[in-house]
Amino acid sequence: MTIQCPNCSSCAVQPSSYKSLAERALTLLFLHPFRCRHCTHRFFELVTRSERRALLRNRLAAKTEQAFAVLHSEF
Ligand SMILES: [Zn+2]
Repeated sequence: MTIQCPNCSSCAVQPSSYKSLAERALTLLFLHPFRCRHCTHRFFELVTRSERRALLRNRLAAKTEQAFAVLHSEF
């Protein structure tokens, strides 16, 4: 699945953390917070819990790759 930023139409979006209890309550309606990496716009998107989990896994994998790249450049 591809999520697009409603502000700049970029596909470079990542799951964002919940800022309040109200935001967490929105998850009952499958609305989850995302942030655009291009324009930093924060928005809510309709996704299932498993889809969001998959997106978080991708983000973690990307961060791990970045950390390894830094480690390799230091040696
Ligand atoms: Zn954007």
